[in-house]
Amino acid sequence: MKITFLGGAGEVTGSCTLVETGEARFLVDCGMHQGGHEAWEKNLAALDFDLRRLDFVLLTHAHIDHSGLLPRLTALGYRGPIHVTATTAELLEVMLVDSAHLQEKEADWRSRHRDARRLCPMVPLYTVAQARACLAQLRTIAYDTEFRPHPALSCRFHDAGHILGSAIIEVRVRAAAGTRRLVFSGDLGQAANGMLPAPRQIDGADALLVESTYGNRLHKSPEQTQAELIAAVSGTIAKGNVIIPAFAVGRTQAVLYSLAGLARAGKLPPLRIFIDSPMAEKATLITRRHLELLTPAVRELDRWMRGNPAELQLRYTHEVEESMALNQIRAGAIIISASGMCDAGRIKHHLRWNLPRAECAVVITGFQAEGTLGRRLVDGARSVRIFNDDIPVRAQLHTIGGLSAHADREGLLAWLRGFAHAPGHTFVVHGERDTAAGFADAVKQRLGWTRVEAAQQGGVHTLA
Ligand SMILES: [Zn+2]
Repeated sequence: MKITFLGGAGEVTGSCTLVETGEARFLVDCGMHQGGHEAWEKNLAALDFDLRRLDFVLLTHAHIDHSGLLPRLTALGYRGPIHVTATTAELLEVMLVDSAHLQEKEADWRSRHRDARRLCPMVPLYTVAQARACLAQLRTIAYDTEFRPHPALSCRFHDAGHILGSAIIEVRVRAAAGTRRLVFSGDLGQAANGMLPAPRQIDGADALLVESTYGNRLHKSPEQTQAELIAAVSGTIAKGNVIIPAFAVGRTQAVLYSLAGLARAGKLPPLRIFIDSPMAEKATLITRRHLELLTPAVRELDRWMRGNPAELQLRYTHEVEESMALNQIRAGAIIISASGMCDAGRIKHHLRWNLPRAECAVVITGFQAEGTLGRRLVDGARSVRIFNDDIPVRAQLHTIGGLSAHADREGLLAWLRGFAHAPGHTFVVHGERDTAAGFADAVKQRLGWTRVEAAQQGGVHTLA
């Protein structure tokens, strides 16, 4: 059996692994590379193998860095099944169509401004029509249910607690030397953020692929995170607004429920929250339709929110005009908007209006990549450029790390301790190169496992 690391090895985007068992050939995840022109080239070059011989695809979760090239598979001719959980399918309906729409829009804009700005032409990786065709290939599977996508193997999805519908995937393959068990962690959640259950423990594997996004870091405690959120909000809303850039799927809902919990406990005054991102609205509505997947505490909190609209006024802004109207509010609004790294979307307007005001606050809740507007703010820029204007930064800046949807180093190690024996081989994936290598060392030292290595991009591993 052969495992090939096509993406998400030594990097945190583009997750994609090809498994060839002799009888079956399948992919686990088919993610988009993200971050600038280099990523675009990688996306164009990805999936360069004979797709007609691919039997099926398994998907751990809906985030674009794991799912974003699924429609590219369709565009290149793959017509087979893509197995996902039901909630992942719901999220993909929103996310893949949106991704295609953004690409079509950018390609169109480039073709119209090409001569004046000397832009290269751009062909979308896939169109909206191809994204919709891909959605028709999804096959939904419940958690903890064995299914057979091929006669030579069986699979099971376990709750990974990372975002709604996220799964750890277990595959049992018939091999010459007996049954071989492969485990793909996908992204693992952190139970401390309170929204989703802890990742399901797995007791054994012949080969394990484990993520390492935060394999070199420790999150702050829930108590510290709460204290920071209280300080940022209560010190601001009487005289200014609180602007929170957040990823639409996962982070927006974690921020919302954290604020609601504090309002309910009387640690914050009644709140007026605006979710100003069409995708975040859809993801929030899907979340609130699937309370059964959340922790009992959050289910209870959601009931309280519905019953106490005066304590927590929640509004979704759909139209651009409604979003622009938020700029007239001088004080008392908490605006959660995308993109999470402040590089695109409506958040840029809110920053433009609120950054120059010392009585406002900006709360950063997620990782800010090099080169993004969010990173410049975190690094303490006194002035930033937004829509060709120099905007002075006078608002208070808060960085809150504890709302991450990923387990930190100790969380990952705790999950690995659930294995009864060290897996035959452990491959550390989905982490920057140094982080993945460092985490592989930590696993060896702390757990005494010996066959642990950071996966290499393009690397092939053969399993007897
Ligand atoms: Zn993820």
